[in-house]
Amino acid sequence: MKFNTKAVSSVLAAATLLSLLCSCEPEIPFSTDSVTQVTAPEITAPEITAPETLPGIDTGDVTTERETDTVTEDETTAPPQTTVTETDPETEPAKDPDAPEFKVDLSAYEKYMDPEDRDGYIILVNPSNPVGKDYKPTDLEPLVDTRPDRSKRYLRLYAAKSLEAFLKEARANGCKDVTVTSAYRSYDSQKEIFDGDVKRLMEKGYSEEEAIAIERKDTAYPGESEHQTGLAVDMHNLGAASQKFADTFEAKWLAENCWKFGFILRYMPDKEDITTYVYEPWHFRYVGRYHAKRIYDMHMCLEEYIEYLANN
Ligand SMILES: [Zn+2]
Repeated sequence: MKFNTKAVSSVLAAATLLSLLCSCEPEIPFSTDSVTQVTAPEITAPEITAPETLPGIDTGDVTTERETDTVTEDETTAPPQTTVTETDPETEPAKDPDAPEFKVDLSAYEKYMDPEDRDGYIILVNPSNPVGKDYKPTDLEPLVDTRPDRSKRYLRLYAAKSLEAFLKEARANGCKDVTVTSAYRSYDSQKEIFDGDVKRLMEKGYSEEEAIAIERKDTAYPGESEHQTGLAVDMHNLGAASQKFADTFEAKWLAENCWKFGFILRYMPDKEDITTYVYEPWHFRYVGRYHAKRIYDMHMCLEEYIEYLANN
């Protein structure tokens, strides 16, 4: 089995980087005062259907060769195979035989979906691995697919571009009306969501302690949300995020194809004990295609995968 040992040290490096970043001042202005709250999902939806196809483990030569970062717009729109280049063939990038096929021409997005910094996005944020109050990515980009009734949403550059490709291809494959309802959330906006939901639970008669315990299964505690990394996105075609989305064609397509664009379905129905969060068919997390494919093929959640990397 081939394995990139660099990945393990890079995970550690990513953890170190995170702790460094936590003490950094935010570098770009970003308003969070108009964040719209995502309604908490229903907790009691039964009979969740997992993605139907879970292919066997394939740890073969996955993306050891990649496109260069220097493809230009002109090159990507040129008719294929019509000119003979005089470039030394040894310097020509070999096309990755395992690269997925798309209906839409996504070649301009390839460098984002399959980043050269392969291990740069393996960042784990969960209740055991919180980020600091001041952690804020410095490369946030506005998303083109934010739901029209929401304020502008942001993701880190590579995740934003890959999501753009993801949604283009999703539409070409019949996914209707899937739009982004939430992406980057600051510590303060996460706190606003969390505290608001706790308040509503307390109004229903729960003690504060009970309300916080219930809320933590649905919504990340401030500082523990991977939305704060700018690498996580919520998208669906319902009025509010709900596990009912899992029954739609769109949710199944997104779950089965997300790895091609560098995303993973972060909170799966059979991993709730590990992630500590309920199944969220609308929540996708960018990690880059190399790791996304492995995570998908091995049907692991990110917590399991990072442990796997550390042990292999
Ligand atoms: Zn989410």
